[in-house]
Amino acid sequence: MAEIFYDDDANLSAIQDKKVAIIGYGSQGHAHALNLRDSGVEVVIGLREGSKSEPKAREAGLEVKSVEGAVADGDIVMLLVPDQVARTTYIQQVEPNMKDNAAIFFAHGFNIRFDYIKPGAGHDVCMVAPKGPGHKVRASFEAGQGTPAVVAVEQDASGKAWDITLAYAKAIGATRAGAIKTTFTEETETDLFGEQAVLCGGVSHLIQYGFETLVEAGYQPEVAYFEVCHELKLIVDLIIEGGISKQRWSCSDTAEYGDYISGPRVITPDVKEHMKEVLDDIRSGAFAQKFIDDQDAGAPEFCALREKEAQHPIESVGKELRKMFAWNAGHDDDYVEGQAAR
Ligand code: NAD
Ligand code: MG
Repeated sequence: MAEIFYDDDANLSAIQDKKVAIIGYGSQGHAHALNLRDSGVEVVIGLREGSKSEPKAREAGLEVKSVEGAVADGDIVMLLVPDQVARTTYIQQVEPNMKDNAAIFFAHGFNIRFDYIKPGAGHDVCMVAPKGPGHKVRASFEAGQGTPAVVAVEQDASGKAWDITLAYAKAIGATRAGAIKTTFTEETETDLFGEQAVLCGGVSHLIQYGFETLVEAGYQPEVAYFEVCHELKLIVDLIIEGGISKQRWSCSDTAEYGDYISGPRVITPDVKEHMKEVLDDIRSGAFAQKFIDDQDAGAPEFCALREKEAQHPIESVGKELRKMFAWNAGHDDDYVEGQAAR
C-alpha cells in the first residue's frame, strides 16, 4: 500500500523559518506562492526581465525580484518554469546564486530523472508535484480543501529533506487531500506515460477517430461531436466518483453490454503492446531527448504538430457548438489561438 501523508504527518514549522523562492509565476507558480504565503511562509518570486507575470504577482502583494535575486534569498528554491527551459534557468541563473545549503524543489521529476539538472551534493533535492493544474491548486486551497500531490526526496543533504518536503506540501494544501510518497523516477515515468498513452494522447486520438468514423459514414458533425466528445466529461466524472464500475452501473444496460462486446474490438491487445513501446521510450530517455532536442532547435516539430492537430475538423465544429451552450459560455476565453493565456 502506498504511503500517504496527511496534515497531521507534517509540521509547518519546518518551513516557516525559511524563505521560499518561487521561480516562475505561471500555472503552478502563482498557486504555490499564494498558498505558501497564506500558510504564513515567507515567499519571494523570481521572474525574468520583462515578465508579463510581474504586475500580477505584485498586485497579489508578493515580493518580486529577478530570478538571480530571488534565488540568492531562498532557503528553498522551487523551480516552476516550463520543463524544457528549466535546465538553462538552473545552470545560468539558479546554480550560481543558490545558498550553499539551499534546497532545490521541483513539481515534476523530468529534469532530475533524465539528468538535465544535476544539483551539487550539498543541496536537498525534493519534489512536491500537485496532481492537478495550478488554478485548481489555488481554488481548492481557498475553498478549504486541497489538491492531492506526490512527494519525493532525491537527495537528503540536510537530513531534514522529508520534513521540509512535507511542510511544503502542507503549506500548499496538498496534505489536506493526501500526499503520496513516490520517487523522482516513478513520478516522471508514470506522469509521462499517463499523459501520452491515456489522458492526453490516448483520449484525444480516440475522440478524433470516433468523430471521423461517424462523419465519414454521413452523420452530422454536430451530432458526432456530442456523442464522442461532449459526453466524455459525464463519463469521466462517474469514473472518478466510483470507478469504471459506477460508470457501467449508471449507463444503460445497452451501453454496458456494448462496452463489454465492442470495447475490446477497438482497444485490442496490440494497443497494450504499443503502450509498452511508449513506456520503453520514456524509460530509455528517448522521448525526453526527442522533446528537448526539438525545443532546443526552436520547437519546429512541436509547432508543426500543434498547427496540424488544431486543423482537425472536430475543433471548428466544437468551437461553434460550445458557443451555443449556455452553461459553457466563456469557457474558451482563457485560450488564445489554442494556447492557454495565463
Ligand atoms: P507554466 O508554463 O504555466 O509557467 C511557467 C512560468 O515560467 C511562466 O510564468 C513563464 O513566464 C515563466 N518562464 C518561462 N520561461 C522562463 C525563463 N526562461 N525564465 C524564467 N521564467 C520563465 O508552467 P507550469 O505548468 O506551471 O509548470 C511548471 C512546473 O510544474 C513544471 O515542472 C510542470 O511539469 C509542473 N507541473 C505542472 C502542472 C500543471 O498542470 N500545469 C501540474 C503538475 C506539475
Ligand atoms: Mg500528470
